[in-house]
Amino acid sequence: AQIVQAEFIKSSVRTEDCPSDGLPEFALVGRSNVGKSSLLNSIVRRKKLALTSKKPGKTQCINHFKVNDSWYLVDLPGYGYASAPQELRTDWNKFTKDYFLNRSTLVSVFLLIDASIPAKKIDLEYASWLGQNQVPMTLIFTKCDKRKKKKNGGKRPEENVNEFQELIQDFFETAPPWIMTSGVTNQGRDEMLLHMAQLRNY
Ligand code: GDP
Repeated sequence: AQIVQAEFIKSSVRTEDCPSDGLPEFALVGRSNVGKSSLLNSIVRRKKLALTSKKPGKTQCINHFKVNDSWYLVDLPGYGYASAPQELRTDWNKFTKDYFLNRSTLVSVFLLIDASIPAKKIDLEYASWLGQNQVPMTLIFTKCDKRKKKKNGGKRPEENVNEFQELIQDFFETAPPWIMTSGVTNQGRDEMLLHMAQLRNY
């Protein structure tokens, strides 16, 4: 399940503009600063693939990366930017929601959740929206290498992970699959690749 090749294909603003070759895809989304670029880099082991930028303006598109010529990793706009104007935020919301509901080749949304801090309201809302709309989702917990800190609520990543799952369970008929990762230690990298391979072969 290794990634031997990956290339940027295109940025789209509307679902209709996304690639139309019918290849399966996985979409990564999460709060800004959740560790998405680090995780993408860890998965593909190519520093230049994750062309994500810190600036909200640069990442407001649906970015398609073709992997091994046979499937896509999709980088979606982050949410929860404190600095983005309200108007822009609403707009991202609208088009990412449209993408989640209408992209027929979307195999699973990988919702990134920071495991080094307690559950955030905006993440819980995002997860429950996906659950209520029956969008297939995998929970990807990031920064699992971080040790507990008093200022972060004093909990271990494992505790935050369990708590998050308990808080969203009512919104799902069956609990979504979940993987603990770290872009620093590469924890979860192989598990993610295997998970994607299994989902593609359904
Ligand atoms: P993005 O905004 O979601 O793309 O987040 P980045 O990948 O740029 O990471 C945001 C911050 O979190 C940076 O300071 C990273 O060094 C840090 N970070 C990201 N992933 C990890 C991780 O797995 N472990 C730890 N300890 N820090 C991380």
